[in-house]
Amino acid sequence: MEPFAYNHQSYFSINNWMEQYPGLAAGITTKKGGSSTGVYEGFNMGFHVGDQLEAVCSNRNHLANLIQFPLKAWVGGEQTHDTLIRKITKADRGKGSDSYDRAFKGTDGFYTNEEGILLTLCYADCVPLFFISPNHRMIGAAHAGWKGTVNEIARKMVDKWGEEGILPNQIFVVIGPSICEKCYIVNDYVINFVENTLVDVEKKPYNTIEEGQYSLDLRELNKIILLKAGVPEKNIQITKLCSSCDQSEFFSHRRDQGKTGRMLSYIGWKETSE
Ligand SMILES: [Zn+2]
Repeated sequence: MEPFAYNHQSYFSINNWMEQYPGLAAGITTKKGGSSTGVYEGFNMGFHVGDQLEAVCSNRNHLANLIQFPLKAWVGGEQTHDTLIRKITKADRGKGSDSYDRAFKGTDGFYTNEEGILLTLCYADCVPLFFISPNHRMIGAAHAGWKGTVNEIARKMVDKWGEEGILPNQIFVVIGPSICEKCYIVNDYVINFVENTLVDVEKKPYNTIEEGQYSLDLRELNKIILLKAGVPEKNIQITKLCSSCDQSEFFSHRRDQGKTGRMLSYIGWKETSE
């Protein structure tokens, strides 16, 4: 079953999680709505792509209103395709929400068990990973392009949560909209790194198209890494939405030849009134 539901032109929600876990906001934006123009038309969420700062802030404020999660409660990262994951507390709120300068440096993953914090990351083909351990109120997000994937940012989140006393079988993961295997052609350089993560794996997540050209399923590779880390298959949901195929919905770095906007993944517990 597709985990992402289209409730509004500007975002998809992880409805089955939001229904099961009251107070949770989780989803990813589309490119529709918003005030960005040109190659960033219209709902660009990325500060670092050359768009006007005012347009990006206006788009972010618009999403904050739509999902009812104030911008001052968001955190964002300066994503560098590494695997640094940070635990976030209320003291961090607002960092990276309205400017790139104050985003967490070199950070591609976040987690928290506190309310009133929205963990956000930007994408245009890379794989958004959403994590939850409902019994521990723990939530997380990670940005996995091919580098983050082969360096196993997915497993690193499971390890971080292990330090918090959370077992892999208590972790649920949604693998979100990103480039599909048909759209993602890579070379031997990438496949060599992929192979290093596939020791003892029988069914490969790529196919050879011709000499030195491979069709790579990054979402499946993240699933394989999560399974190896001990997350049960029944806890993992994968989308069928492709950032490159679905041109009307998503920005795609590959399809748009590098000049494009960014979608925003988000996950957070809304603040309950005390
Ligand atoms: Zn595709």
